[in-house]
Amino acid sequence: MDSIHQESILQFKALVQQAAKLAVVGHTHPDGDALGAATGMALSLLSRGKKDVTCVFSDTPGENLRFILSREVPYCFHDQEAEKAEAILRGADLIILLDCNAFDRTEALQPFLEASPAWTVLIDHHLNPDRDRFDVVFSTPEISSASELLYWVLKAMDWEVTVAAGTALLTGMTTDTNNFANSVFPSTFRMASELIAAGIDRDALLQTLYNTCRENRVRLMGYMQYEGLKLLPCGGAYMILTREIQQRFDLREGESEGLVNVPLTIGAVRLSLLLKEDQGHFRVSIRSKKGTSAQALAQRCFHGGGHENASGGKLFIGPDISSAEEAATYVENALKTFLK
Ligand code: 5GP
Ligand code: MN
Repeated sequence: MDSIHQESILQFKALVQQAAKLAVVGHTHPDGDALGAATGMALSLLSRGKKDVTCVFSDTPGENLRFILSREVPYCFHDQEAEKAEAILRGADLIILLDCNAFDRTEALQPFLEASPAWTVLIDHHLNPDRDRFDVVFSTPEISSASELLYWVLKAMDWEVTVAAGTALLTGMTTDTNNFANSVFPSTFRMASELIAAGIDRDALLQTLYNTCRENRVRLMGYMQYEGLKLLPCGGAYMILTREIQQRFDLREGESEGLVNVPLTIGAVRLSLLLKEDQGHFRVSIRSKKGTSAQALAQRCFHGGGHENASGGKLFIGPDISSAEEAATYVENALKTFLK
């Protein structure tokens, strides 16, 4: 893996060796990759004899992803235990940030990360990493996931990837590639091949990941595709998950995962947006086909970023639009201007 420099590996090893209190941190509203990479990192540190390792996130993960959490690893979620999370970050002497390119992607944790005197390591695959803020950086956008990048970092460190850590990493890679549909590189297949050869049960993993959802999710997906999908002649598509719809379907965190990809299966659609109403803002998911930049639209119109073909951001009620009802008009104008 070209982007993993030997010098950085030696520095990372030295930082781990001298650290007593380690915090492993991922982005806000953690997805499978953030949870898988953090869990794989924490398990690897614990199996190297580190005693005080905690995974810290701003939000509790959705029920559908909680199976990734390991019983061996202590987790702390800021939305449940704010003071504890802040104390862990304050007391840490090494902070490892995974699956985000900067502290601001952790939202509620950002001020505590910024104030921390701890050594810092970044392991990430998003565009525009905040390199200067970290002592050691492993960053490449040419990889499937942070979980895969971590796998190759662990290999370069000559650390054993245990079945438990490997399962977490394989899960993170599988969710970020949408089960080998996007951002797959030769190294991604190599990682999967090595882990399956090492005894990881991929069938069981896929079963848990994709075949255990609630009826509500399937009905919501059908409803949004039938009633909610808006298609524009410019090649843009969007859906808005209002609070009212979320309540009607008793939607839980993570249950609309994957919906944003569906409109891209239509030949004429180049760019697909899903807006999910939250408190005072909409969370925006953006996906694009090759040749159209989801990242540019996220940055230009939704205060966000991410990857070339999979990005996200926010639309704020107040600064961006005066009421939730204006979201559709804002999105249509953004899409028409962007896809001109
Ligand atoms: P998703 O649509 O699955 O929430 O996110 C897709 C990608 O965009 C992920 O890599 C995620 O990290 C990134 N992303 C999502 N929301 C934001 C955001 O508000 N800001 C930035 N910079 N990236 C985001
Ligand atoms: Mn990721």
